Amino acid sequence: MRRFNAPILTPLVVCILTLGLAACNGSDTESSVVTEATTNESTPADTSTDFVVEVDPFNFESDALISSIPTQTCTLSNGDETSCYKIDIAGVPSNYEIGVFCPQNITSTADEAGIWFDGTGEVYDITGDFILNLPTLYNDSHWQLYDEGTGLVNVTDTQESCDGAARPNVEEQYQNHCVECSIDYVDGGISESFLIPITPVATTQNSSIGNANVGVALNGVVLAAPAPVEAILGAYTIAAFDDCAGHINLVAGYHYHGEAGCSQTQIQSDGHAAMMGYALDGFGVFGMLNEDGLEPTDLDECRGHTDDTRGYHYHAADVSENMFIGCFKGATAR
Ligand SMILES: [Zn+2]
Ligand SMILES: [Zn+2]
Repeated sequence: MRRFNAPILTPLVVCILTLGLAACNGSDTESSVVTEATTNESTPADTSTDFVVEVDPFNFESDALISSIPTQTCTLSNGDETSCYKIDIAGVPSNYEIGVFCPQNITSTADEAGIWFDGTGEVYDITGDFILNLPTLYNDSHWQLYDEGTGLVNVTDTQESCDGAARPNVEEQYQNHCVECSIDYVDGGISESFLIPITPVATTQNSSIGNANVGVALNGVVLAAPAPVEAILGAYTIAAFDDCAGHINLVAGYHYHGEAGCSQTQIQSDGHAAMMGYALDGFGVFGMLNEDGLEPTDLDECRGHTDDTRGYHYHAADVSENMFIGCFKGATAR
């Protein structure tokens, strides 16, 4: 069931009054293009961008956004002037409590801590055993994340230590720590503003993600660039994620580095993977797997493809890969 809070209701009301509800979700403009797209149905790998779906603000969870979604003129990376939505995310998930990160001691179980992934295809529960096994896992005897006398794990459990360790240039004194920060250090979450083109514009050349944010999750959390794993491991730290693949630093607040299923709030009626967010180019991002547990086989290098319902859209990578999508298919706002 969809719930709307008062500030978000405003654009809908305006939209109904001025355009009629059908136009608000873009179906007027889509219907003519759907016909064109269906003629490609037999094509095995359809990654065309002939059919695009507008950003629908009502896909966001209530409380995910801190204000209504105003429309404003924006310039895209390809030079186009167009209309963008200004999306102000709350910076904390609207649909669950942020979870635990680091284990307390070397006997902690999977339930008592979060996860770690380094982009090499594994997701580790940060158990006590994981902490004990670090020298073997990373083939370096300098790893020592716990006190041998007490079995307690070295955790950055103050704001000062979080500040010194939850950053690419980890302070030396916090080497060999499991790094975590409390959401209280950032006053419960850092809200952030994004301009996203209402109608995505495909570009002739895909653009790389780089070190910038990728998009926004429907529950109000930013989809961040890959975690700087080399710097983290190079400092003998584990920047623990909660089970939803998010963690906190003092600059970005709570942010995601992978898609662990916690923001897949828009279930699709046709068995397609659920929607979890929007990339900054305005194309929708969906989970990796459909309801039968299968990943699409026709994804392009950006991890996108096209169908008649969703137009061009992305499927997030497995959480172990420390990324969401391969590249931007469309232009982002400057
Ligand atoms: Zn991070
Ligand atoms: Zn799909």
